[in-house]
Amino acid sequence: IIQAHGIFKGYETETGHLRILKGISTAFRTGEVVSIMGPSGSGKSTLLGILGTLDLPTAGHLFIQGQDVTRLSESRLAGYRASKIGFVFQSYNLISTMTALENVMLPMLSAEGKTRRQMRQRAMDLLELVGMKERMHHLSPRLSGGQQQRVAIARALANEPLVVIADEPTGNLDRKTGEVILELIFSLRDRLRTTFILATHDPYVASVSDRVIHLSDGKIEQVVENRVNRT
Ligand code: ATP
Ligand code: MG
Repeated sequence: IIQAHGIFKGYETETGHLRILKGISTAFRTGEVVSIMGPSGSGKSTLLGILGTLDLPTAGHLFIQGQDVTRLSESRLAGYRASKIGFVFQSYNLISTMTALENVMLPMLSAEGKTRRQMRQRAMDLLELVGMKERMHHLSPRLSGGQQQRVAIARALANEPLVVIADEPTGNLDRKTGEVILELIFSLRDRLRTTFILATHDPYVASVSDRVIHLSDGKIEQVVENRVNRT
């Protein structure tokens, strides 16, 4: 459902043009969990930003459900992003003055077609799905890191995205909690058929993913398919 064709990304700096991504071509299928690994600075977050349409490539095209999103206007793209893509970050990025429930409702406010009551119900259902329903009225800073990440995953799913982009989702968690978050990601994939694209430094995360893309200096160095029976 997602295809990257010859993605290049560079930045203009005082010292000249900095080339970060150097021709990335790959595709992601529905319901896949794919890890992107590589040394710090290899371009993982940059690639996730492009796959998540937060950033446009310098050259190349990104197709989502057959549509070339690099050709959309900025406003169409923002709407597209809000309705099709969920984001999860290493530092959770919940709004600290809001409860878990309010955080999960937030992305729904910018989408259309739901009453406030329906949004609230959906947010409660999602919090139940991630095992956080009993804590729905807690302010996010009152939650542990693992709990905040569960809420962040529920928030990412708010608008029924095709794909969830997660930049080091277990990076701030201890091993055990990280494993629980991964189990959650896999159970959500099985139930909802959501595609997850993760950047990670954790070999364990990579080992349980369906596929691992190894980046090195802005290029795909190697792609490893793990067990095919998971999807
Ligand atoms: P890490 O594992 O440390 O998170 P990464 O693989 O995610 O690393 P990126 O964040 O994608 O790496 O960064 C790749 C390179 O792009 C780095 O050298 C970084 O300094 C550079 N870079 C990222 N964003 C910008 C920007 N807006 N302007 C200039 N350079 C940038
Ligand atoms: Mg990064």
